[in-house]
Amino acid sequence: MITTNGLGKRFGQVEVLKSIDFQVAAREIVVLLGPSGSGKSTLLRCLNGLEELSSGKFEVNGIEVDATSPVRARQAAIRDIRKQTGMVFQQFNLYPHKTAIGNVIEGLLTVKKMPRDKAMSIGQQLLKRVGLLDKQDVHPSRLSGGQQQRVAIARALAMDPAIMLFDEPTSALDPELVGEVLGVMRELAQDGMTMVVVTHEMKFAREVADKVVFMADGIIVEEAAPQAFFDAPQHERTQKFLRQIS
Ligand code: ATP
Ligand code: MG
Repeated sequence: MITTNGLGKRFGQVEVLKSIDFQVAAREIVVLLGPSGSGKSTLLRCLNGLEELSSGKFEVNGIEVDATSPVRARQAAIRDIRKQTGMVFQQFNLYPHKTAIGNVIEGLLTVKKMPRDKAMSIGQQLLKRVGLLDKQDVHPSRLSGGQQQRVAIARALAMDPAIMLFDEPTSALDPELVGEVLGVMRELAQDGMTMVVVTHEMKFAREVADKVVFMADGIIVEEAAPQAFFDAPQHERTQKFLRQIS
């Protein structure tokens, strides 16, 4: 579903991603861990075309982006990739003047040009899926952080993505609200969604991930199945990271 080959990203002179080779198979749940500044968000942003890559190439669901391709070709590929990926950020970024369902169906109306009644019916199904059907007419300011993030997930799912990318989706939440968002993500995983998740929730990583990828200083230091990763980390850098967070 996702493959990167020697993916590199520089900001000026700073090499933030150094030749990343990364793979995600269909229906796989990959959790991306690493210290602050290691390049996790930048990698997700490259995969979604929010950052231009500096070198190497990657492929998402058969669509290739190569740093050496002409800019037109890259932009066209990125447009196609965005249609197939949903991204959820730490900050929920909902439209404040739209209701919960208004937020969920926005892309269906404007991007997919779907008739309103059809969009509403899909929106309601999605709000039901994230446990918020009763909040469909409520504005974001009157929802809790956990509820807002679940609306943001429903909004991403509305575009029927093949892959979901999550960048610390629970980091802005009060601790008691984290569980409801992770619960929705667990269900998505069980339903067979392909997911890349940057998170500090180690219990989620252990229980839901098929593969844990540990990054530091712009490289992939180690990747393994969760049990091996947490119980027998191979690299010193990984061991240090796990000691610090436990
Ligand atoms: P965190 O856990 O804190 O979210 P991260 O692993 O997601 O960290 P990134 O946000 O990918 O890390 O940042 C990696 C490095 O790239 C950092 O050193 C950061 O300062 C740098 N960086 C990120 N975005 C930019 C930018 N737009 N311009 C310059 N440098 C940037
Ligand atoms: Mg980040």
